[in-house]
Order: sequence, then C-alpha cells, then structure tokens
Amino acid sequence: MKISIDIKSGDISKEPIKDIIVGIDLGTTNSLVAYISNNQPITVKNEDYQHTLTPSVLHFEQNGNIVVGQKAKEYLISQPERTIFSVKRLMGKSYKDIAMLKSSIGYEIIDEDKDALVKIRVDEKFYTPLELSAEILKSLKHTAESHLKTTISKAVITVPAYFNDAQRQATRDAGKLAGLDVLRIINEPTAASLAYGIGLDKSQSSNIAVYDLGGGTFDISILHIEDGIFEVLATFGDTFLGGDDFDRAIMQYWSSLNHISDQTLHDDISLNQSLRLAAENAKKTVTTNQVYSAIIDKYTVQLDLITFEKLISPLVAKTIDACAQAMKDTHLSNSDIDKVILVGGSTRIPLVKKELNVFFDQIPDDSMNPDEVVALGAAIQADILAGNRKDILLLDVTPLSLGIETVGGLMDSIISRNSKVPHRAGRQYTTSIDGQTNLRISVYQGERDLVQHNRKLGEFILRNIPPMVAGLPKIEVQFNLDADGILTVKAKELRSSVETTVEIKSTYGISEEEMALMLIDSIKNAEEDIKIRALLEAKNEANNVILAAEKFVAQNKDIFTTSEINETIKFNNLLKEAVKSNIKDQIELAMKSLNDYTTPLAHKALDVNIGKALKQTSIKS
Ligand code: ADP
Ligand code: MG
Repeated sequence: MKISIDIKSGDISKEPIKDIIVGIDLGTTNSLVAYISNNQPITVKNEDYQHTLTPSVLHFEQNGNIVVGQKAKEYLISQPERTIFSVKRLMGKSYKDIAMLKSSIGYEIIDEDKDALVKIRVDEKFYTPLELSAEILKSLKHTAESHLKTTISKAVITVPAYFNDAQRQATRDAGKLAGLDVLRIINEPTAASLAYGIGLDKSQSSNIAVYDLGGGTFDISILHIEDGIFEVLATFGDTFLGGDDFDRAIMQYWSSLNHISDQTLHDDISLNQSLRLAAENAKKTVTTNQVYSAIIDKYTVQLDLITFEKLISPLVAKTIDACAQAMKDTHLSNSDIDKVILVGGSTRIPLVKKELNVFFDQIPDDSMNPDEVVALGAAIQADILAGNRKDILLLDVTPLSLGIETVGGLMDSIISRNSKVPHRAGRQYTTSIDGQTNLRISVYQGERDLVQHNRKLGEFILRNIPPMVAGLPKIEVQFNLDADGILTVKAKELRSSVETTVEIKSTYGISEEEMALMLIDSIKNAEEDIKIRALLEAKNEANNVILAAEKFVAQNKDIFTTSEINETIKFNNLLKEAVKSNIKDQIELAMKSLNDYTTPLAHKALDVNIGKALKQTSIKS
C-alpha cells in the first residue's frame, strides 16, 4: 500500500494513493492502453507519434533491438523476415493449428514438433508468441508510464470471447513477463459493452450484439447481461477476415486497371508497400464520402465509395452470414436484440453499418470510437477491481464443462458448461481397491460421457493416502475456476488430511473450430453416450457389489451354513459372468438376484453381530 504525504503541510493523507490499474486492448492489428481519469475512461497517446493506437507490430533491428508500433510497421514490406505482425493469432497455438497461416506471413515459424507451441525465428534467436506479446505490452506499459509519470504494475487485458484456456493463460503470462500483474482477463465484447455503460446498472437486463471487424479478424458475440453477469450466448466469426482483406481487394483492383502483374508486385517491394499504404488511405478517405486519387510511381490510382463497396460487398456478406449463425445458436430472434455495438476500425465503413441495420432491423450504435471502446471498457473493469465502483461484480461463463475421469473412463463433470466464473465446486470420491495409497486425478474439458472423447487438460497423483479398505477413504476433489477461466484443482483425503493442489494449464490450445466440433459431437453422440455411460456405471456398481459380497462371506463364515456360503458364491460368480457379457440388463438382473439372496443373510449376520457386541459391553456398577 502507498501512503500519500502532502508536501506543504507534511500531513499524511488518510486516503492511501491507489495504484493506477490500466486497461489494455491487446489487438491483432492495433493495441491501446486506457485508464480512468476523473471517473471517465480515456486512452493514452503514444508520445512519439501522438496517436492512441499502437500497431501490434515488432521489428528486429540488426543489432537485436526490438522496436514496437508505428516505427516497426514501416518495415512490414521492406523487411518481412524481421518484422512480426499478428502475433495474437499465434498465442497458445501449436504448429499444427496454424499450418495454413504460413503462406501469408514473411517471418519464419519453426516447425519442430507438430504438437508443440509455435516459435518464431529471427536471425539465430527463437521467440514464443508469448514473449513477443510481452514486448507489445511493455511498450504500452511504457506509454502509460510516461504519460502518467508513475510506474504501472497492474492491468486488465482483453481477449476475444472465443479464446480458450490456453490462449487466456498465454496472454496472462505475457503480461507477467512484461512486468504487469494481470488482475483480470476479460472478453472484448464484455469490455465494449461496459464502455457503452451496459451492465453497470444491475437492475437492467439486456441482449447485446457486439460486431467486431478489425484488421485481420472478425467476430460477432451475442451477450446476455443481467445482474452484472455477462453471459456469452454465442460467438462466431472468421479469424481470417478483416480490413487487410479490403486493402488487398483495392490493390488488386488498381493492379488490374494499371496492368501491374503479381510478379511485378512481388519483385518491386517499394511499389508494393506504397500501393498497400495507398489502398488503406483510399479506404479511409472514401468512408467520409470523398473520392481518393493519387499518383504512385507512374500509376494513377483512384477510388470512390461505390466502387469500394462493390469490391468488398462479398466479404461484408460473409460477416452477416456469421451474425445469422450466431443468432441461430442463441435461439433468440433478431427483435430480442436490444442494441448492436460496433467495435474495430473497419466498422467505420458505411456499407457495414447499412448491412447490419438491415439484418438486425435497427441502427447500430456507433456513438463511441470503435478503435477505442475495448480499451475504454477494460479501464472501467480495472476501476471496478480497484474498488472505485461499489457493488459491481462482473462475471463471465465457461464455454466447456470441466471434470475428472472416474472408473471405466467416464467423465464426471464438476463444473458444467456455461457456469458463471469465478466458480468453485467439489465432489467426494473414494478408492476402489483395498489398501490403495495413490490416486490418479485426470482432468478433462468437454461434453462427452467418455473422457477419451474429451480434451485432457492435465493430471496429477494424490500420494501417501494411508492404506484403508476400498470405499473408506473420503477424497474430496475441489475445482476452483478463477475469473480468468484458469482452473486450480485440489484433492484431499479427508480422513488423513493428505492433500495435493495443482494449477491446470493446457499444453496447447484448441481452436474455436475444434471447440465447436466438440460441442456438435456431444450432441450427435448423446444417445450412444448415455447407453455407454449406463453400461459402465452398471459394471462399476457390479464390481463393487462383487467385492463387498466376497468380504461379507469371509467376515461371517462362522455364522452361515455351508449351503448359504456356496449359494452366495454361486450368485456372485453369475454376476462376474454378467459383467463380462457387457449387457447392462443382464448385469442388473444378476445384481438383483445376488442382492435378493443375500439380504436375509445380512439381517441374520447383523442380529448375531449385535448380540455379540452387546455381550461384550460391560456396564460399570
Ligand atoms: P484489431 O482489433 O484487429 O487490432 P482494429 O480494430 O484496430 O484492429 O482495426 C484496424 C482496421 O481498421 C485496419 O484494417 C484499418 O485499416 C481499419 N480502419 C481504421 N479506420 C478506418 C476507416 N475510417 N475506414 C475503414 N477502415 C478503417
Ligand atoms: Mg480489436
């Protein structure tokens, strides 16, 4: 804690100075940092070029120095092998995940092990996307520090709603590496809604569509907001669609008009760079209804709004299809949407607004700067965490169920899909073998009944359980999912207090497509899964009954007649046969027969044992 001292009077202020917590939009194309000043969120300008947007580009100078932002962007085309962009796409990804990306980038991605996380090579050094993101974060931290003239050590960072656990974890670690204590990772659409003031009044509930069209990616998220809880009802998009594609369409149009071949563009890097920058300028100029005209080298290039809209209309149509898909997933009708919010620089394009207006049958809200809304919302979240806005608690939901493997390879969900986070849940388990001292806890994510169809997040072993008969240990497994969606699992044997805690980090991410596939699979296979689960459960129960029956006979040998013992063994053997048959009905029938036969025997044994016990109890007189 910091204490403030009034320098003139020497008084120590009662109110400690609160650390400033910044909000950071770590974007694919541009990144921003914001904070709260006089109760209002504002974005910070980079002092070198007086702009709030820092291009998410890194350039490696020959001497090994790393330059971030506008200066780095200038080397994109002239030195592609030393200039890294779109790092965000690589976060938490394995080489296998991004194989299709390789052709579109100029820098080198290392292909050493298909399942390992990707690395990028510049000169003789290797960098992980996490380290590169940390460089961008350091630069933003520096921007904020020189503006605020104080050190910044705490931040809230935003990520797309579709980011999975590994990608969130990687973002959080990048923050740590940049010297930031990341207090919270929040979803970009949640931040944008907050910037619009939605969710701050707990008594209101609403459905919001957040349409985010940036430089290289597009996503649409439908949120339901109630009681300060932001629930992502659906999120859909295209991680390879954005403003860069519009620039490319303009370049192609100009090239074909001026008979510039692909080969020329490939060979003449400076022409390529100039045309690309001109295309982006032209796009922004026509947005304000002016005509763009320029001479690049010896070529005259022009663009007007109508031509531009013709060029991009198939791409815009694709985003509207995605909106339809997201809406379908929510089971809401378009009239249930209370507000449509625009995020990302490319939403300034009039055609985008027009098409959205037609689709949602309402005028999208563009009253805030679409480049800045996410960062501004992150700053509001930071302010809430700093305790400056009372009574507000923001929550998100987890997209897939989390659970552990139980006997027979069954998935036992502990936190179910769509649970609000933070979330804590636990369940008790026991051992299935006498004297068992170790118990393996395997943690999975997914909706299927068998763990083999779900995604393994990790496993650990609870060791040194004191030997006890099967079924006696009480093993409590606690899942603690924190506000960033990061899971900590604790296992504790309650009779002996032996415990183990692990933070589960997934080794590499699943793509959003895989996540969607996992959900679709769980629905498609639901019926079959239920059958398999029922069979496995019957088998597990039968195995327990078999063990119990054997113990029961052994412990009460002197109470039962030989024929009673033989008969019990016979029924038990029949049950063992039934288990092998893998037919659920047969197992249940055999269990019932054994049970029917042994119930009167159990009563008999109980009577005898109680009688014995009573005789042994002596009463002092
Ligand atoms: P990201 O979220 O991917 O980091 P941004 O939200 O910063 O991206 O959006 C960057 C994109 O917005 C770029 O393609 C840029 O050209 C485009 N853009 C910015 N201003 C305008 C404008 N006035 N008209 C059209 N496109 C714009
Ligand atoms: Mg963005």
